[in-house]
Amino acid sequence: MSQNFLKPITACFGQPVAENPTQVMIEAAYQQLGLDWRYITLEVSPDDLAAAVAGARAMGFRGFNCTIPHKVAVIEHLDGLGESAAVMQAVNCVVRRGDQLIGENTDGKGFVEGVKKLRDPKGKNVVLLGAGGAARAIAVELALSGAAKIILVNRTPQRGLETKALLDDQLDVATELITWDKPYAIPEGTDFLINATSIGLYPDVGAQLDLQYDTLQAETFVSDVVFNPPATHLIREAKRRGCETLDGLEMLVGQGVIGVDYWAGTSPEPKVMREALEQVFAS
Ligand code: NDP
Repeated sequence: MSQNFLKPITACFGQPVAENPTQVMIEAAYQQLGLDWRYITLEVSPDDLAAAVAGARAMGFRGFNCTIPHKVAVIEHLDGLGESAAVMQAVNCVVRRGDQLIGENTDGKGFVEGVKKLRDPKGKNVVLLGAGGAARAIAVELALSGAAKIILVNRTPQRGLETKALLDDQLDVATELITWDKPYAIPEGTDFLINATSIGLYPDVGAQLDLQYDTLQAETFVSDVVFNPPATHLIREAKRRGCETLDGLEMLVGQGVIGVDYWAGTSPEPKVMREALEQVFAS
């Protein structure tokens, strides 16, 4: 038996990629913590998901991430869910606790933890661009952190309605839905402006959000989930106007920090993880 097999293993169940940035980031964290652990990327087809989870149990994996298409389907194979995963009915991080596998959702948690270090969203007004998986995760965590109001701005009304209904039914936050069909004017009194769409993601780096940029005030905290490249058009515009900002790389690092903490019981150094990611995206 190879020695590697004896190391505590964490994994990503998803689709194959040449170099998984999450793997590089998590293994950098393990090294920094002096842990002789591995994080491996495993291609799992939907038909094999039950067997893969059973295998992770049998082989004593400390946990694993799930990406599309497994975020919802994995739930029936687990023993329980954390709070935000239960609200969203979506899991991106599975954690072994005793002999149980518990599903968590760290997408929004990583973001909100990062935001909280700079500005507390409690009682604040948020404009959230997008209504997909990332937007939903962020909206749920902001509501759980006590945000007063979330304005959802989305191109497709149906997806916006689904995210709004999830917030209205399960969380204590005021909501409004705007159909994004013309340049959006950011309302006065907006404390947080967050891009949770994929606009600007590599290779479409020149794409710009359809905003009336002259309505962006210096008091508004601006954030973008797009992590490649981290200096998106929105982040650059916001900095130019004197806004405090948080880029998508910080969100990715934030969720990685939480994942490692869940699996290993100790927090890694975020700087080391960010540097590892920057190297991947620079190559
Ligand atoms: P989804 O496909 O679930 O949602 C995409 C969202 O972007 C939808 O609201 C969609 O609107 C909107 N959108 C896409 N293209 C356009 C366009 N041309 N004009 C207007 N709206 C558009 O994706 P995810 O939510 O999973 O991911 C969104 C982004 O977040 C990705 O770039 C992803 O890489 C990033 N992400 C970053 C993370 C991090 O840690 N930094 C973590 C997770 C995701 P519509 O409903 O109308 O289609």
